[in-house]
Amino acid sequence: MTPTAEQPESSGATAPPAHARPAEDVVAALGTDLRTGLTRQEALARLEEHGPNSLPEGVRESALSRLLRQFKDPMIYVLLAAAVLTTVLGEVVDTIVILSVVVINAVIGFVQEGKAEDALEGIREMLSLDAQVRRDGTWQTAPAEDLVPGDVVRLSSGDKVPADVRLTATANLRVEESALTGESVPVDKDPDPVAADSGIGDRTSMAFSGTVVAAGSGTGVVTATGEDTEIGHITTMLEDVESLETPLTRQMTSFGKKLSLAVVVLALVMFGLGALLYDYTLGELTLSAIGFAVAAIPEGLPAVLTITLALGVQQMARRNAIVRRMASVETLGSVTVICTDKTGTLTRNEMTVRTVVTPAGHYEVTGTGYAPEGDILHAGRPVSAVEHADLRALAVVAARANDSTVARQDGRWQLSGEPTDGGVRTFALKAGVRGDEDERVAAVPFDSAYKYMATLDHTPDGLVVHVKGAPDRLLDRSDSQSAGEGTAPLDRAWWDRQVDELSAQGLRVLAAAARRAEPGATAVTTQDVDAGGLVFLGLYGIIDPPREEAVEAIRACRQAGIRVKMITGDHAGTASAIAREMGIGDGAPAVTGARLESASDEELRTIAAEHDVFARTSPEHKLRLVRALQADGEVVSMTGDGVNDAPSLKRADVGVAMGIKGTEATKEAADVVLADDNFASIEAAVEMGRTIYDNLRKAIVFILPTNGAQGLVILAAVVLGLTLPLTPVQVLWVNTITAVTLALALAFEPSESDIMHRPPRAPGGSILPRSGLVRIVYISLLIGGGTIAVFLLGEDSGSGLAESRTVAVNTLVVGQIFYLFASRFSRTTSLRRELFTTNPVSWVCVGVMLALQLLFVYTPAMNTAFGSTSVGLDGWLVPLAVGVAVLAVVEVDKALRRR
Ligand code: ADP
Ligand code: MG
Repeated sequence: MTPTAEQPESSGATAPPAHARPAEDVVAALGTDLRTGLTRQEALARLEEHGPNSLPEGVRESALSRLLRQFKDPMIYVLLAAAVLTTVLGEVVDTIVILSVVVINAVIGFVQEGKAEDALEGIREMLSLDAQVRRDGTWQTAPAEDLVPGDVVRLSSGDKVPADVRLTATANLRVEESALTGESVPVDKDPDPVAADSGIGDRTSMAFSGTVVAAGSGTGVVTATGEDTEIGHITTMLEDVESLETPLTRQMTSFGKKLSLAVVVLALVMFGLGALLYDYTLGELTLSAIGFAVAAIPEGLPAVLTITLALGVQQMARRNAIVRRMASVETLGSVTVICTDKTGTLTRNEMTVRTVVTPAGHYEVTGTGYAPEGDILHAGRPVSAVEHADLRALAVVAARANDSTVARQDGRWQLSGEPTDGGVRTFALKAGVRGDEDERVAAVPFDSAYKYMATLDHTPDGLVVHVKGAPDRLLDRSDSQSAGEGTAPLDRAWWDRQVDELSAQGLRVLAAAARRAEPGATAVTTQDVDAGGLVFLGLYGIIDPPREEAVEAIRACRQAGIRVKMITGDHAGTASAIAREMGIGDGAPAVTGARLESASDEELRTIAAEHDVFARTSPEHKLRLVRALQADGEVVSMTGDGVNDAPSLKRADVGVAMGIKGTEATKEAADVVLADDNFASIEAAVEMGRTIYDNLRKAIVFILPTNGAQGLVILAAVVLGLTLPLTPVQVLWVNTITAVTLALALAFEPSESDIMHRPPRAPGGSILPRSGLVRIVYISLLIGGGTIAVFLLGEDSGSGLAESRTVAVNTLVVGQIFYLFASRFSRTTSLRRELFTTNPVSWVCVGVMLALQLLFVYTPAMNTAFGSTSVGLDGWLVPLAVGVAVLAVVEVDKALRRR
């Protein structure tokens, strides 16, 4: 049995809870060691015993209850009532047909919902959480699910705490616990025990699962996982992805309800008129009214919209853009400005120190990646840090002021931690300097607001503060520089030149500095660093190669009428060099954070509109830039990775978080999470957003007139006192086979080839533009009128009633198929190769539809059931003519609108 911190039997009858005991006690009770963590075998054994560190998902609805729910629909009630009526009237065949329709409808709904759910499920899995854990003595990144009690974990700012953790060391650690306590002000944490009876909000020696590190860092030991955590006690499910609903689908659902009501009223009116004016029997009239209602109500529309949305977001996820808020799918299509990070998004975030500069000279570093294999060259010859004190000093800072580890895992050198840190760590190892973590007394973790990291360490020379960070920040805080064994006054102008030179080559430049600390110091804060008096040691020039695919994506965005702006915390020179390489901003120099700082809101609007590259910015500038752009009517997408980026992501129309380097806090604030941190995925998301909206619109404009035409046929016949061109069960037939086939085809429609050549869609606005409404009306009239005309023509030419009706049904079917062809391309003509090549599903749908219709016409069983009969070639050619007419009219409509 694994000891757990709260188990009384592990240490006497009434051991106090973990938060009230000294940290060392808890560590000992959990049978672990802070310096090595658990062994891999021990972790596996405990995982076996405690189960994965995850909360049970909300009980998923059972398949049966999902199936039954499909019957809870007013439409179905109407149909069931009709079935009862036909039974009473003795129309057994009609009863069977109607009941089959009911069942088929339910099955379609059931299957579609299942597919949509599966799509979401897959997306949820992509948003899993990672944790930094020490196993077998090394820090590594592991899925949070694998954590067990006794694991030693590390928390940094922006992390979501992966389990309940007893803190053993902290540096300015502040945790935001609103998920647990509802209190949104971050709480200061430290390892000191608190009273046993403190409430959760007062247990400052603990960090609880599901809460978010707002600032600082810490280490601790896991005391509880999964359901045993505090959050596990209060909740059973964490919702990461919303359900498939957007303002648009809600709008359509409510529109559908209103439409249904209108149809029912029309059905009653029709019933009344028919009874008053003509001598229909009651049974005939009732069935006609029901047939009309079923035909005219677009009962399948919400399901089709949902499946379109689900397939769309699934495809987006395949292209590494994970949608967290469904509403953003609509907004994505109207984005006009994309503000993006540089590091990791436009560049690969694989940091390698290439050059270092010390007061004594330049050094080149060879080797790539995180493998500490390579030489340090001075004037072309390998040198050792042992004989170059200046180089060694730089390597020591690299090793100490560093929160990353590179280690050989599965035969490859892998980084655990932040890439910038990793690059610098690898350099230190190449120089033969290892950091000794146990000599660290305290630390100021890196934050993009102040742009440096500092540590207070024991060294052979006593206590020293080591600082690494943005060169300008460190130069501002230094008054001397190293010179052999001693120091010399700081030559600021020389260093500024070096920084400019390195950054003009597109290198990311970091600086190192250090200073002696007071003997006995136990803490280091930003105030200590900002007090100055540092000794400047030198620069690291880091390469971070650009992502080829991002260059391509930026070009695509430009074509699509979207401006791309780079907002980075990096040096202006580096930012400009990379921007030039990526094709952002036409080579204009970067605007710096200092300039933004001094600008008024009014000036900022002009600056934001005119410039594309912003350097040395802080997260707060991002927020102001988003506001300024929005004030100019732009629809803004903003990326972010740090904790402080959350406000600007929330404020942006589409907030995009980095899935790999992004903190949990940013992901939580985001609408979209990029699985690969890649700019190209943002472009793909925009493209998919446009496509999904396009397909939703196509589905609506396709489905409404098919229902319109079906309803019209019966309505017109009854009101005009004609023989019904289609019997009510025949209308049910058409309605049902359309729903299983054609209505689905448009959900699979790929992006149109010109999708990224159009300007962004104006935000807001109705999904149904006037042109769509017009089309719905004329197609209803065309297909409905065509069907009636074909029927009357048949009657006139002396065909039997059954034959005329069968040809009328054919006309509806063929007319709808041709309308589908016309609907697949919204602006361009459908008479193109892509009609046959890009959407195979649509052809399967057409094929199935035709096959079913052949059964309807030519099998005796169907003939008996539906009162259909076999027809000759004419019975197909006439409908074909109607279909071609439908296609031709839509093509003329499109051609006129393209002008
Ligand atoms: P960006 O991600 O836009 O490149 P950041 O806000 O991450 O910018 O970083 C801003 C600056 O802070 C960098 O240019 C660098 O000088 C410094 N910096 C970045 N990461 C670290 C780190 N891990 N430790 C110390 N300084 C860093
Ligand atoms: Mg960054």
